[in-house]
Amino acid sequence: MKKILLFSAGIDSVCTLANIYDDADYFVYVHMGLPYQVTELKKAEKILLHFSEKFKLNLIDKFFPIYHDLYDFLEDADKVFIPYRNLLLILTALKYFHNDDLSILIGNTIDDRVHDNSKIFIDQSNKFFKATYDKRVSVGSLFSNYSKISMVRETIKTTKIDENDVEKLTFSCFNPIQNKECLSCNACFRKNVILYELGIFRPFYNSEILQYYAGNLNELSYDRKKTTKKYLERLSLKSLTRSI
Ligand SMILES: [Zn+2]
Repeated sequence: MKKILLFSAGIDSVCTLANIYDDADYFVYVHMGLPYQVTELKKAEKILLHFSEKFKLNLIDKFFPIYHDLYDFLEDADKVFIPYRNLLLILTALKYFHNDDLSILIGNTIDDRVHDNSKIFIDQSNKFFKATYDKRVSVGSLFSNYSKISMVRETIKTTKIDENDVEKLTFSCFNPIQNKECLSCNACFRKNVILYELGIFRPFYNSEILQYYAGNLNELSYDRKKTTKKYLERLSLKSLTRSI
């Protein structure tokens, strides 16, 4: 059974990596041709090297050449949301390692409300592959029962990474500027919230996104609501969150 970590460069990926460290056989990054992935891929390679010189990223590049324009997949305003992205990545890994039994780790937490980032998705995927696939495939996540902040705290407590690593060793941005996080997209906002909880403040430059979160705090899971509110208040948006 080959153990695979589906690796982006984000906080979930890095926390999972820090925890399994020497235990994965393959780290898989799927390049789907999205603009931000050029930078993300470079960062992902660097992060792996930081953990060990022997770690190598298995890059699956241009896996779907038939989709001349990958924006066909995308449906939100930022043109970066891919429905069932995790499923797509899992199927991609199956194609790449089709001769092996696989244990595939994805990053997810209870904060994620995306349809393919839930415990139900993981359970149902396992049932589906067991019933239909000719090799053994298990899909799992180390942090299905954790909120993002509790995952990060637990990882800091039990592995080699610290608060500064969470800032410097991870990369999540939909619109990188000169290979740096833009501090004005949704991914940057979510990372800023976590960092602030760890005592690292970074500014944020997109008032539309701030207004959105301020107005929709009640939609968030318990920990995410708490941490997001705290960060918004730090940004002096007290007036926006007062009524909540
Ligand atoms: Zn960004």
